[in-house]
Amino acid sequence: MDEKPRSDDKAARPTPMMAQYIEIKSANPDCLLFYRMGDFYELFFEDAETASRALGIMLTKRGKHQGADIPMCGVPVERADDYLQKLISLGHRVAVCEQMEDPAEARKRGNKSVVRRDVVRLVTPGTITEEQLLDPARPNAFAALSRLRGGDGNKLDGGWRYGLACVDISTGAFDVAEVGEAELAGELARLEPREIVAAEAICADARLTSQLAHLDAPLTALGRDVGGESAARRLLDFFCVATLEGFGALGEAEIAAAAAAILYVERTQKGKRPALRRPSSLRRSATLEIDAATRVNLELTRTLKGERDGSLLATIDMSATPAGARLLAERIAAPSTEPELIAQRLDAVSFFVAAPELRARLRAILARAPDVARALSRLSLQRGGPRDLGNIRAALAAAREIVALFSAQEAASLVAQEIAELAVSDGELERAIATRLADDPPLDKRAGNFIAQGFDAELDEARALRDESRRVIASLQQRYVELAETKQLKIKHNNFLGFFIEVPQAQGERLLRPPFDAVFTHRQTMQDAMRFSTRELAELEAKIASAADRAQERELALFEELAGAVLARAQELQRLAQGFAALDVFAALGELAVKRDWTRPHVDSSLDFEIIGGRHPVVEASLEAQGKIFAANDCDLGDARAGKIAVVTGPNMAGKSTYLRQNALIAILAQAGSFVPAKSARLGAVDRLFSRVGAADDLARGRSTFMVEMVETAAILNCAGARSLVILDEIGRGTATFDGLSIAWATIEHLHEVNRARALFATHFHELTQLTKRMGRLVNLTMKVKDHAGEVVFLHEVAKGAADRSYGVHVAELAGLPASVVARAHAILAELEAADRRAPVEKLIDDLPLFARAAQAAPPKDALRETLAAIDPDALTPREALAALYELKAKAARA
Ligand code: ADP
Ligand code: MG
Repeated sequence: MDEKPRSDDKAARPTPMMAQYIEIKSANPDCLLFYRMGDFYELFFEDAETASRALGIMLTKRGKHQGADIPMCGVPVERADDYLQKLISLGHRVAVCEQMEDPAEARKRGNKSVVRRDVVRLVTPGTITEEQLLDPARPNAFAALSRLRGGDGNKLDGGWRYGLACVDISTGAFDVAEVGEAELAGELARLEPREIVAAEAICADARLTSQLAHLDAPLTALGRDVGGESAARRLLDFFCVATLEGFGALGEAEIAAAAAAILYVERTQKGKRPALRRPSSLRRSATLEIDAATRVNLELTRTLKGERDGSLLATIDMSATPAGARLLAERIAAPSTEPELIAQRLDAVSFFVAAPELRARLRAILARAPDVARALSRLSLQRGGPRDLGNIRAALAAAREIVALFSAQEAASLVAQEIAELAVSDGELERAIATRLADDPPLDKRAGNFIAQGFDAELDEARALRDESRRVIASLQQRYVELAETKQLKIKHNNFLGFFIEVPQAQGERLLRPPFDAVFTHRQTMQDAMRFSTRELAELEAKIASAADRAQERELALFEELAGAVLARAQELQRLAQGFAALDVFAALGELAVKRDWTRPHVDSSLDFEIIGGRHPVVEASLEAQGKIFAANDCDLGDARAGKIAVVTGPNMAGKSTYLRQNALIAILAQAGSFVPAKSARLGAVDRLFSRVGAADDLARGRSTFMVEMVETAAILNCAGARSLVILDEIGRGTATFDGLSIAWATIEHLHEVNRARALFATHFHELTQLTKRMGRLVNLTMKVKDHAGEVVFLHEVAKGAADRSYGVHVAELAGLPASVVARAHAILAELEAADRRAPVEKLIDDLPLFARAAQAAPPKDALRETLAAIDPDALTPREALAALYELKAKAARA
């Protein structure tokens, strides 16, 4: 077989191998093609150029295509994972094309024939399963979208309902949801998919893609939309069930999205079937809604710079296992709104707070337990190795230990529930693996020697032959020495005869005669020696020659058998994995509560929000590292029927932003089922959380336009309700003073009168502190500052009242501005304040008596009135007037 493209300029036709390459490549145009040739994956043409740049490997050439050199580069198969990781992290997709037959097979078809090759898998950011490619502490999911016409009447809804399916092949998680267009980006931000797939038409929708742009997940087009009948069929087929009833009530859009997700799984895994759980609907009403901007702003799982370090999650994550870390991330991303569930989770954390020894022992066992879900997923995709089986064995052993540890305990109900999930197949599976698998099994099944010695006679024999052929031959020689009654008999080996028996000439003559000739067969006569063979030796020879092959074959068969036994228990193992993760999260939160001295919050269905001695967990941790102390602060936004709004003033660097965020974080932590950094916390479950930072302060997002600030503020004013918590930090600062002040003012009025949400509003517009006089649920808070021997000291303490506004000039003085400038500033300030007294803001409020009415929700649109209002009778020709009249009549008939 000739695999080398010949450098034959005249041949415009590609070589057979190149033709095969081009065919496979054109079926996978959006992927880099890893084309298997022996021990290398080779890349050609543009792929080679891209990969050599991305990976820093040498670009060579191989043969010619249409008269030009073919650029080529290659990566060794055994190091392919490293290169894949690099390419995936750079956002590439890779199609892995393997040799589907032995080159010897191809040769049988004739000299020119090419080895059969096929793409066995697409490696994309959202579908990887390899341990080396995965971040242990992060889910690795992709999201599939579908959409249907028909919004739910929400003003911000573009008329589409979206189905969303989120699949993590590496763990089997499969969640679906149905959302309006306005909520889509927020929902995706929570799920943090590594990749988004959707039908061509959706990917081409520029309005949608611009909304998804900041998610940092590449968008992959999936051809036609799958919906209706064929979507349901795809689900039924994949899960081998006859009806979707067992899946709970899935909506049409959810089914279509789930089907799109399965389509993508099939397309990337090329027919292999990962052990996915059945799709379950994310019951959206039950979780705290946090939109994308708020997530970014509060740095929940990632900092503004995009790093995990310094985020809330990194600060509180004390989990002992990667699966626990992933579940904790999920809980923080989607805190509950159900007081009962929250209380149950807090009971579980309290249980571990109160049982330090048990907690420590559980954590020690969990720390040794491997990642079951990911091992299971690799096995189900036939990508698993002996180490994955070893991981399952270790996990089962750990589960057994944990069950024993809790056997004498009265545990909190959720803890007991998770412990019950750990009992898999009555120990049968663990025993099956333990008797078969050797210690320290290798990653790759081709490495061999992972089935325990003594389990399988056939395998043991094959191995003995392979490894101990010398010893076997030596013992056979000893037997023949006795049988032939000569000490001069030797068993030797050469390439021509293989193994043979050699005796001196004189002894040889004897062996040619009975009874010896029954055993020994003459092969060769040399000058002074004779060579014989025996049936046994020939058989042994054949056995030794194929022993290595047989050992491997047998071992692989035993591997498949054992993997099959594991997969038969896939559902139970999935639950065990979830049980581990849940126990880990409870114990880790217990550890956290004890280590940081956090308290159990009380969450109910009231509209309370009373936090005493609250702290910002991340700022506190970073101050602590510098040996500084965080000043704890109270917050009370509760009221019987609607939330209070606190207007927080104070100079720069006084701690306003920190205070705002810490209260939002305490709500998130409490509803996620964690203890909180406070002396005490009592709050009514928040249903939606909004946090916005004025454009001038929002530096890290690099889109500091006033427009963005206003769009986001609009979203809050349109969506927030009485159960919501709203955090507004320096809104209105991004524009001219009077514009900004007016916008901030109107925003507070709207929040107070219409949204009636609990809210914190940090502002440098002093005038706003006057509003308390007119709004009953508005309170003024200020950050205390002390003038200590001519030095401004920030106490970071929140107190009732408004800030002393002259601190700005004071700070300027401290910063070393020339004395003349400071003196002039004081004079101007005095003048401005005097002017303010002549026309105080209070007066302004009286001059704007309509604010309360203006803040009410806009009246519903009336098409008839609007049309009427738009008509200017003086400007109409008689004919136009008649047309207008007809139009009005038609509108009236429709109304
Ligand atoms: P502002 O928004 O008022 O300008 P920040 O909230 O950004 O102020 O806080 C500025 C700095 O002050 C923070 O980075 C932090 O180091 C410190 N700080 C804030 N709040 C506290 C506190 N309660 N206790 C101690 N230090 C604090
Ligand atoms: Mg600030």
